[in-house]
Amino acid sequence: MCVNMVFILKITHAIITDMQESEVFMKKNPGWIKFTVILIVINLFMVRQVLSQNNFNERGYDIPVLMYHSITEDDKKMFRVTKDGFYEQMKYLKDSGFSVLSMDEVYDHLKNNKPFKDKSIAITFDDGYKDNYHNAYPILKEFAMNATIFVVTDYLGGSAYLSVDEIKEMQLNNIDIESHTTNHAKLDKLTEIDRINTLKDSKDYIDEVLNKEVKYIAYPFGRCNKDVIADARLQGYKMAFTTKSGHATGRDDLNQLKRVLVSGYMNIDHFIKVVNK
Ligand SMILES: [Zn+2]
Repeated sequence: MCVNMVFILKITHAIITDMQESEVFMKKNPGWIKFTVILIVINLFMVRQVLSQNNFNERGYDIPVLMYHSITEDDKKMFRVTKDGFYEQMKYLKDSGFSVLSMDEVYDHLKNNKPFKDKSIAITFDDGYKDNYHNAYPILKEFAMNATIFVVTDYLGGSAYLSVDEIKEMQLNNIDIESHTTNHAKLDKLTEIDRINTLKDSKDYIDEVLNKEVKYIAYPFGRCNKDVIADARLQGYKMAFTTKSGHATGRDDLNQLKRVLVSGYMNIDHFIKVVNK
């Protein structure tokens, strides 16, 4: 690129300082005009590439948002990760220098292109299982990590689910509580009124009991369509997650962000691979 730039500068210099000489040169060599224009276009393209690499390198523009569900004593399934497995994964993130972002930080980075460290990651849990409090929360606290739990508000207080006191306590210790609707219905299958009610009521409930503003939602089963997205926006959700697999990126629609499912069957080598992809 430098050689090309020098050539262009020389030509430009010749044009400015010695128009007559340059005119004669160009008349004698008409092919040089075409050649110079092509070089200018190539150089502009290369400058753009370099600038874009410096500002938003591929890795720095993507965030793996991990998706967990249940964290069990020792039961391994697709949506059930053991607490020992979870501990091993969090320890790896800590020891490897990952920055665990809050949901507000994820939003800020994706929406406003705010730069962030190369090894940034976010941790989410869907459904609001009680074991998140007993098995995941102590580990997150030990490593001083942020996480977000998307709760189903009608389930709160049920025997397998978090209580209001538990979400209140966790909120004071870096665990963000956001919406997973009131009843875990498939949003794209609901009538308009039911869809609006479940989006609105779950947000209103959490806002009130936790004295906060819910801004994020994970669609149950990851399901959405354009009506779901439009109503979620109208109800005040600024960012929404599906269950589609991939890293969250500002290049995608913020209302349909991807996540990385951490399955109970995933061993630590596989985990290391997916968070570093
Ligand atoms: Zn769910």
